[in-house]
Amino acid sequence: MQPVIETSPLTGETVKELTPPSLEDIHDIVLKARASSESWAQTPIEVRTDALKSLRHVMIDRLDEIIDVLRRSTGKVDMESLTSDVFATISMIDYYEKNAAEILAVRSAKASAALIGNSFFVERSPLGLVLVISPWNFPLQLAMVPAITALTAGNAVVLKPSEVTLSVGELIQDLINESEYPADLLKVVSGGPDVGEALINEKPDKIFFTGSVATGKKIMSAAAENLIPLELELGGKDPMIVFHDANIHRAVHGALYGAFSNAGQTCVSVERLYVHEKIYEPFLEKLVKEARRIKLGSGKSGDIGPIIDPRQKDIIESHINDALEKGAKATLPIERRDSFFSPVILRDADHTMKVMVEETFGPVLPVMMFRTEEEAVGLANDSEYGLNASVWSRDIEKARRVASRLVTGNCAINNVIINISNPHTPFGGEKKSGFGRYHGPEGLYSFCRTKTIMINRGVLKKEINWFPYTRAGYIAVKNLMKILHGKNAIRDGAKKVLKILKGK
Ligand code: NAD
Repeated sequence: MQPVIETSPLTGETVKELTPPSLEDIHDIVLKARASSESWAQTPIEVRTDALKSLRHVMIDRLDEIIDVLRRSTGKVDMESLTSDVFATISMIDYYEKNAAEILAVRSAKASAALIGNSFFVERSPLGLVLVISPWNFPLQLAMVPAITALTAGNAVVLKPSEVTLSVGELIQDLINESEYPADLLKVVSGGPDVGEALINEKPDKIFFTGSVATGKKIMSAAAENLIPLELELGGKDPMIVFHDANIHRAVHGALYGAFSNAGQTCVSVERLYVHEKIYEPFLEKLVKEARRIKLGSGKSGDIGPIIDPRQKDIIESHINDALEKGAKATLPIERRDSFFSPVILRDADHTMKVMVEETFGPVLPVMMFRTEEEAVGLANDSEYGLNASVWSRDIEKARRVASRLVTGNCAINNVIINISNPHTPFGGEKKSGFGRYHGPEGLYSFCRTKTIMINRGVLKKEINWFPYTRAGYIAVKNLMKILHGKNAIRDGAKKVLKILKGK
């Protein structure tokens, strides 16, 4: 396996070097995790949620240290680490701690009229071993949330964190070790793509991947070899639509936060801004004026930090240059100092430009004018991606109507980004933004096998549809079908008869 090096985005110095485990060692780690999954699957849910609680306490106790590690590894501003990485993770832990028992409980289900006399139950059980592969942009949250969800559902987890933020992977292992989880249940295996590939070859029972579309395709094709189910949380090109009746002050500040927080390295960043023609000029003027106040920084000072993965800088620059060549205009001086980019606002953008169709993943906000609701919906949907979106208007009915027409996994009205942090609601993408959902009840279900059990008390000698088939049986089934599913009068009549039969 190739050695990997984590470098500081602030100084370029080596933060950590690591030689990943050999193929044999990887095999051994997976075997041990699998072995521990068997007893964990039998562990009562209350014990699993107690482990979550212990993890929450460990994280709160070690909060300052977590922020220090995130700062060294990513160069981020502390406020970003605190809110988007740590707070988001702890809220999710808290949610599952309180709700997992109910979500995972066996449920009884109704039976259709034709199945009267049978009762139905839906049972969830763990999958076994889950492989989580995570990126560098929110290296704590995007690794820990799927991992703790899978653990809570009763699985063992092998986590392959990003090689760009090795120290965060190490920290996660440490936090888990200090909590009340059995040894070997969650194992962090750090390394580059070759380590990810080796782990997929170990045939986990599910792969949960967060990262780029290009890697998502490779992982899907590797998973197909062994028909391993997978969930892909991929990139985004999120549109923000501002109607003329929006609260302009709020929309301007929302756009700046949406586009520039975490230096635009957020899968749900605002990457395209569409502004109604009536307010286009005054909106831009205010946007630019407010953008001038944003300060570059890291740790305890400033608003937006550096570009974390050095490979991203070329992509950002190429998108800016391509847009300028095709007619977009820069509204602020374009300044780059080492890994820091000052916020870039490009006016008069259009869909011939890379910056409007490909994921930029940097502090760049292209702005385009629209005239009608129809046009805004068309522009927003004219994308290969569909992760998040936002619609801004005081007319909530209109905004709601537009939100429903957008092909996206998530949409906020009069807000940005924070909508995906509600632990109660599912999150995931459409189109090239991936598939599958996590967070909320769906999150736990996606790491479970779902089994439906039907119980018949076994009293009747036989069922009407069993052998031998008879003409009388055929006519009886046909009449039953007519009664149950025919025109209203008959169906209503049948409902009454059924009610009488059920004694209601
Ligand atoms: P990436 O695809 O380069 O890497 C992600 C992970 O995959 C890393 O751990 C990497 O080592 C691993 N990997 C790479 N090649 C592999 C292979 N062949 N087999 C197995 N593993 C392999 O992504 P990144 O640059 O770390 O992250 C940025 C991307 O992630 C952006 O596109 C962003 O939009 C996306 N993202 C999506 C979400 C979401 O929830 N939808 C959230 C955050 C980031």
